Amino acid sequence: MIVAELLRQTKKTLFSFELLPPLKGKNIREIYDAVNPLMEFDPSYINVTYHREEVVYKKRPDGFLEERTIRKRPGTVGISAAIMHKYNVEVVPHIICSGFNRQETEDALIDLNFLGIHNILVLRGDPDKTLKTFIPAEGGHRYASELIEQVNNLNQGRYLDEDLADPTPTKFSIGIAGYPEKHPESPNFDTDIKILKNKIASGGEYIVTQMFYDNRHYFSFVEKCRNEGIDVPIIPGIKPISMKSHINLLPRSFYIDIPVELSSEIDKCRNNNEASEAGVEWAIMQAKELKEAGVPSIHFYTMGRSANIFKIASEVY
Ligand code: FAD
Repeated sequence: MIVAELLRQTKKTLFSFELLPPLKGKNIREIYDAVNPLMEFDPSYINVTYHREEVVYKKRPDGFLEERTIRKRPGTVGISAAIMHKYNVEVVPHIICSGFNRQETEDALIDLNFLGIHNILVLRGDPDKTLKTFIPAEGGHRYASELIEQVNNLNQGRYLDEDLADPTPTKFSIGIAGYPEKHPESPNFDTDIKILKNKIASGGEYIVTQMFYDNRHYFSFVEKCRNEGIDVPIIPGIKPISMKSHINLLPRSFYIDIPVELSSEIDKCRNNNEASEAGVEWAIMQAKELKEAGVPSIHFYTMGRSANIFKIASEVY
C-alpha cells in the first residue's frame, strides 16, 4: 500500500514508528525485539533511517591519530526488507543525499524496487559531524529536492545511464521532512515553508515533522503550510524524552525548544528511569491532543527503544 494513499484515506489516527539500523556488528534480533511489542498496535508503516559514513580518529600505538571513515549503522535496505517480510507491514526506508553520489543512490533505489519497497522518505541527511556546514558528496545532491528529481526520473524510466534499452520505470512514492520550529539553516520561517512547498511541487506526497514538545508549534506549522497552499498530510513526529540529559542534548542537536513545564519536571527527576516516566507522560499528553485534533497519523521516534513507545501507544490507541 502506498503510504501517501493510506494517509489520505484514513478516518482515524494511524500509528507508525521509526527505527535505526543497529550498530555495525550487532544482530538483527535487536530490531525484532524492538518491533515485536509494537506490532500489537498494528502499525500502518515502519520507517528505517539511513546513515552516512563518519570520520573517526583512532589513537595508534605510536601516539599519532589515524583518520578512519566508517558507517556505524549500515543495513537500511536489508532491514527494511527483513521487517516487511517478517511482519507483513509496509516499510519506509529513508534515502539521503549526505555521503552518497547519484550512482550509489540509484543503486540503492534499484535494490529497493527489486525488493518490492515503493515508499521512501527523501532527505538531505545530516552533515558530516566534523564539519559545520553540509557539503554534498562528489557527484551527489545538495538538497532533498534534487534527490526527489532523481527519484522522479527513475519513476519515468530515466536512469543515469541514458543508453539503456527499454528501461523499466520504478514507482516510488515520496515522503519528505518538515520543521515545525524551522529548519536551523533556513534564514526565516517564510523561506523554509516556500522551500517545503517546492519540495511538494517536485513530488513530495506527505510531510513527516521533526520532533516537537509543544503541540502549538505543530498546529501553527500546519496553519502556515495550509495558508501557503500546501495541502498534503502533515504527520507529527513525537520523541519521548528518556534521559535527563535529553533536555540539553535535544535542543542542541535538533534546534528545538523544550517547554519550561517539561524541563522543570525532568529537572526534578532523580535518575533516568524517572526522567523516562516523565517523558512518557508528556508524550501521552501530546499524542492524545494530536489525536483529538484528527491528525492522520502519529509518528514515534523510537531511537531503538520501544518500551516507552509501548506505554504511550497503550494509552493512546
Ligand atoms: P532539505 O529539504 O534539502 O533542506 C535543507 C536546508 O536547505 C533547509 O534549510 C532548506 O530550507 C534549505 N533548502 C532546501 N532546498 C533549497 C534550495 N533549493 N535552495 C536553497 N535552500 C534550500 N538524517 C539522516 O541523515 N538520516 C535519516 O534517516 C534522517 N531521517 C529524518 C527523518 C525526519 C522525519 C526528519 C525530520 C529528519 C531526518 N533526518 C535524517 C535529518 C535531516 O536529514 C536533516 O534535518 C537535514 O538537515 C535536512 O534534511 P531535509 O530533507 O529537510 O533537507
